[in-house]
Amino acid sequence: MKSIIFIAPPAAGKGTQSKKISEKYHMPHISTGDLLREASKGNTELDLKIKQLMESGSLIPDEIVLELLKERLLQDDCKNGYIFDGFPRNVSQAKTYDQMLEEMKFDHGIVIYLDVPKELCKKRILGRRLCPNCGAIYNNLITGMESKVENQCDRCGHKLETRNDDNETTFETRYQTYLENTLPLLDYYKRLGMLYHVDSTKSTEEVFQSIIEILERGVSHD
Ligand code: AMP
Repeated sequence: MKSIIFIAPPAAGKGTQSKKISEKYHMPHISTGDLLREASKGNTELDLKIKQLMESGSLIPDEIVLELLKERLLQDDCKNGYIFDGFPRNVSQAKTYDQMLEEMKFDHGIVIYLDVPKELCKKRILGRRLCPNCGAIYNNLITGMESKVENQCDRCGHKLETRNDDNETTFETRYQTYLENTLPLLDYYKRLGMLYHVDSTKSTEEVFQSIIEILERGVSHD
């Protein structure tokens, strides 16, 4: 299976879809947001800087992200493809990544754009609840995505949490960062003939089916 890059505004569903693809095709799900959240747990100056940048909704400097990513790609499970959730976030990261692929002799894979209007992204951000124990994702504001018991994980019973950067102020910065830095990637990948479009306003299952069509038949319908 080819590697997948998702380009999407905040809370367009890239985390949810990455998990589902990872389970179906047994490919590793690599979230740079998760790698950075993990890396920022310490107390060094760098850890605190990462934490503060993430909480403000700004991007982390490319060198830090690329270093973490390179380490991850060298692990054995990445040899037959992987799913990128949150990388690349700008054209400069995409260019460096292209060079890394050449060096590692990895395939370039495909790019899927999850298209969602701003207002829906906001609703998804403000309602998002995560299980820190098993990684399940819920949403209080979206019918069908709520947990059965408020603030409790259906799968493992753990108390649900809200991400530090899932609030209204940070959302505006993250969305602006997306428009300025990440959206230009659509042109970059379109020119390389790698881009597929998916309407991600639909239900999780419908979006997942559209992605499967792309992966298995190389077509997108919307
Ligand atoms: P995410 O979990 O993808 O929503 O990312 C959360 C935050 O992590 C972002 O708002 C950025 O601060 C940081 N981040 C994640 N991926 C990247 C990346 N590829 N480049 C720079 N910063 C990133």
